[in-house]
Amino acid sequence: MSDFAQYADWFYLVAAVLFILALKGLSSPVSAIAGNRFGMVGMGLAALVTLAVAPNPNLGLILVAVIGGAALGLYRARTVPMTQMPETVAMMHSLVGLAAVLIALAAVLHEGVHHTGVQRVELFVGCFIGGITFTASVVAWGKLSAKLAAKPLKGEWVKPVQIILASLMVGLGIYYFATESLPAFFGMTAVSLVLGYFLIAPIGGGDMPVVVSMLNSYSGWAAAGIGFTLNNAVLIIAGSLVGSSGAILSYIMCKAMNRSLLNVIFGGMGTDTAVAAGEAEQRPYKAGSAEDASFMMGNADSVVIVPGYGLAVSRAQHALQEFAEVLAHKGVNVRYAIHPVAGRMPGHMNVLLAEAEVPYEQVLEMEEINSDFSNTDVVLVIGANDVVNPAALKDKQSPIYGMPILEAHKARTVVVVKRSMSAGYAGLDNDLFYMDKTMMVFGDAKKVVEDMLKAVAA
Ligand code: NDP
Repeated sequence: MSDFAQYADWFYLVAAVLFILALKGLSSPVSAIAGNRFGMVGMGLAALVTLAVAPNPNLGLILVAVIGGAALGLYRARTVPMTQMPETVAMMHSLVGLAAVLIALAAVLHEGVHHTGVQRVELFVGCFIGGITFTASVVAWGKLSAKLAAKPLKGEWVKPVQIILASLMVGLGIYYFATESLPAFFGMTAVSLVLGYFLIAPIGGGDMPVVVSMLNSYSGWAAAGIGFTLNNAVLIIAGSLVGSSGAILSYIMCKAMNRSLLNVIFGGMGTDTAVAAGEAEQRPYKAGSAEDASFMMGNADSVVIVPGYGLAVSRAQHALQEFAEVLAHKGVNVRYAIHPVAGRMPGHMNVLLAEAEVPYEQVLEMEEINSDFSNTDVVLVIGANDVVNPAALKDKQSPIYGMPILEAHKARTVVVVKRSMSAGYAGLDNDLFYMDKTMMVFGDAKKVVEDMLKAVAA
């Protein structure tokens, strides 16, 4: 052991503290950039220490991998549109799963190394979770990016196939545990890869973001499992942090949608349970122009903006921020209301608003703003639908009944910007659009906001 190796755990401890600071920083948009930097420094330190203590590292190969990976990551980070973030995250998780499988295989194939019983369990668990995570994440990526059909795989045969595969995988794992048989380990790995497909294929494309967050959690646990085998403290700590934060995020998302994790995995919303708005009876609604909406907001005392998925699609955040700024200069009290599952990924709206440099003090969470709607002159709902659907509060038959919503319907006047009367993610009609106090402004969100901006500035 080199002299340095004795101190490695201390450096790993510093890296682990940096990871925790990264998570803490990422919990608020104000500190998110600092959080990211902590994470990068922590990861850099962990990688350097690992290289320094590795017995015979093939530095050339490692350098090629690091430079190649960094270049690809940088390119993807710079070019990915915000709307494609969920599938990009799914793709990243697939790589973590694959890494866990490859590390486990490398450890198993390491000649002359005998693994203890406990290590065999760790290798088995880390490898099968990694295998499931890999294929499941690739399927999630395919569904989210429309490369695979978003429709869930259905049939009486699906559950039995899942059970057979899971039993086979565990059986081969036990056989490997008892005999250290390499073919059993390879077989178990292959079955876990197939099982990953069959676990995710029955879930509808719409539920994929929750699934992605669950897979994030799995990939963390897989890494932690392998960390035990390799006796690598930083892998155990980083894996557990990823595992538990992913699990907490899945829980928060399910809670905000008023669904259980089991319902997401075995149920299926946004698939065939909902009544599409187009199929609902035709009801009268009021429509107006961007200029009308602008006039109303320019003369209001208070305006609350509710952004949703459509804002992300049309990339209207910069124009919206400019419009809000002009209103604020006119003396209007402008605030933004954020629903925890607005958009298609956690924090989607916060990221967009932060990108447009909306002041953080104007951005309020659902719990902070809901009691203020009844004292608000105008609510501007922009590209949002489900998160302001009052059916969630009153209609016991509605699939979204019980989901907490932003109570925009309580404001004095409501302006809704969207392209048509079409439904949102849950496929439901929305009573808010037909209320007397509501004015629909049809059009692409960015175009409408630009028109409102011209009108208010004139
Ligand atoms: P919704 O999907 O309910 O509604 C978005 C609305 O935006 C649509 O009705 C659409 O209407 C409109 N829209 C689309 N494109 C444009 C455009 N270019 N310009 C203007 N409007 C546009 O979004 P919400 O944000 O209200 O709700 C999010 C939904 O996603 C919830 O049901 C949530 O449960 C679900 N979900 C969220 C996740 C998350 O982590 N955030 C994860 C998984 C699911 P039109 O076509 O008429 O323009």
